[in-house]
Amino acid sequence: MKWIQRLFNRTHAATKGRIVPIFFTNTLTRSKELFMPKRPGLVTMYSCGPTVYNRAHIGNLRAYVFADTIARVLIKAGYRVRRVINITDVGHLVGDNDEGEDKMAVGAAREKTTPEAIADLYTKLFIDDLSELNIDTADIQFPRATSYINEQIALAKTLEEKGFAYRIKNGLAFDTSRFPGYGKLGNLDLSVQRVGARVEADAEKRHPADFWLWRTAKPHDLQQWDSPWGRGNPGWHIECSAMSRTLLGPEIDIHTGGEDHIAVHHNNEIAQSEAAHGRSFVRYWMHNAFLTMNGERASKSLGNVVYLSDITAKGFNPIALRYFFLQAHYRTPISFSWDSLGGAANALERLWRISMHIAEESARVSEPSEMRDHFIIALCDDLNTSQALSILWESLRSEDYSPEEKWGLIEDADALLGLSLVHPPVEDVAAATLPEDVQSLLARREEARSRKDFDEADQLRTLIEKSGYRVDDGPDGAVLTRTTL
Ligand code: AMP
Ligand code: ZN
Repeated sequence: MKWIQRLFNRTHAATKGRIVPIFFTNTLTRSKELFMPKRPGLVTMYSCGPTVYNRAHIGNLRAYVFADTIARVLIKAGYRVRRVINITDVGHLVGDNDEGEDKMAVGAAREKTTPEAIADLYTKLFIDDLSELNIDTADIQFPRATSYINEQIALAKTLEEKGFAYRIKNGLAFDTSRFPGYGKLGNLDLSVQRVGARVEADAEKRHPADFWLWRTAKPHDLQQWDSPWGRGNPGWHIECSAMSRTLLGPEIDIHTGGEDHIAVHHNNEIAQSEAAHGRSFVRYWMHNAFLTMNGERASKSLGNVVYLSDITAKGFNPIALRYFFLQAHYRTPISFSWDSLGGAANALERLWRISMHIAEESARVSEPSEMRDHFIIALCDDLNTSQALSILWESLRSEDYSPEEKWGLIEDADALLGLSLVHPPVEDVAAATLPEDVQSLLARREEARSRKDFDEADQLRTLIEKSGYRVDDGPDGAVLTRTTL
């Protein structure tokens, strides 16, 4: 941390505060590296998006809050960030083998409609969920795979022409043996790799890791397009290679996804893109760990999922989920429970109260301070959000800083963590708006405290809590927080 601080001071001074050094863990090198974008001042970033045949669950949403945090840190450091999250609206097979049904067809059959209507509905719900989590969706491109079929065909054709693909009865397959270094992401050992859930099985493939670039349609397939290999649909991986190149250029700075994508999907993206274009595809690969439920990865196929709509239906503010995610480092698995979400919601609301109080005291005037630097350094150090939150809490509770310095920290924290601290979405529970009985309990408690009768003050605190408010004693008196959102 000390050497990062020194580097920060140097870079900070040299660039008048515009660019600070940022370190990210790169899955490709398995080490923490100084982040340097390809072009000065601009970062290109691609995040694998959802298959829109049903809602995104909160495990998926962790992946996008993670990507959003990266973008916030980069923007704060002075970069322009161009972002893409793809929308997979082509139905890849549920079981990833030749027998499985395609996901969009499953969704369409379930809701007795077309794949297009399913895609429209769940794309909208996905983007709404992101907005509710304070992700600025206006700044992100959400390309749909079905709008880039020509680009995917062109890429598959290039691979075939260059000898990286071979035809099989039901399509065109990528020949992983022709691509040196296949499996470099996550150091995949092909000699022990078995045909797993997401490794495509087909008797005609030369190696279990070889994968479809194009799959011949079955007559009943709802989605099919013409191609040099007959009517069919693109393989699962090719859309990301094609769309990232079209929208962000041949070499992108950052590519994100959940760690489940490392072994197959991302190795296959690398193989396709680098084989076709003969150059490096991604400079920094970044992956988030899983959100788990009762010790197991939350996933649609296991059925152990919770949606953001379940969370809001229980009266939680969606930002409580964001706070819950940020409590852990992105490379650490997090275990979801309603109790731990409740804890996050309470902490967040307390933070909101403190922030409202400091807004008043500082008249929203901000000043620089050392703690703001520490806070930013923690986030620039591979997005250490848990440490950043500790710095935030400690500093806001400390009597060593002025209200203006604290307000400066709140503004930084708001920009970097997206927790709505500058304009908290809570009712004003200033003393005047409290119910009369609570006001009188609060006054009696203040009076007991001034007499240093802490037993009575504690009893009164319990009564206030029973009325639905938590009491936090700050430097300027008690801050009350409604305990039910
Ligand atoms: P999918 O629709 O399955 O491709 O998932 C969308 C994104 O969510 C991908 O980046 C996945 O790696 C990620 N993801 C899926 N399940 C989880 C989970 N339980 N925890 C964290 N990220 C996940
Ligand atoms: Zn992808």
